[in-house]
Amino acid sequence: METYKGSCHCQAVQFEIETDFPELTTCDCSICIRKNALMVKVHESKMKILSGEESLTTYTFHTHTAQHYFCRVCGIYPFHRKRVAPDYFGVNVHCLDGFDPGNIPIRATDGKGMD
Ligand SMILES: [Zn+2]
Repeated sequence: METYKGSCHCQAVQFEIETDFPELTTCDCSICIRKNALMVKVHESKMKILSGEESLTTYTFHTHTAQHYFCRVCGIYPFHRKRVAPDYFGVNVHCLDGFDPGNIPIRATDGKGMD
């Protein structure tokens, strides 16, 4: 697995993930569709917040299980804790340095259909 660094737009929030990008996901739930999010799923042990934890704030809705993080300075969504698997993060791949989605398969997940 490789290590990738990521950040929000204002650079307050910096993080690092380890992944080999088995797939990327999109989601049609009410929040992901508004964010137009393209994500990779990473276990919490493979995800490290390097700086800016104090700049992160969370938004929750519906069951309040998923934690949607965003930077309170620039408003960018870098990652969220998933509702169906709370020990996993969905990471916004467009926040990763030098990331190229290339030929990684993209799977559309059904968020709208989850009650
Ligand atoms: Zn920021």
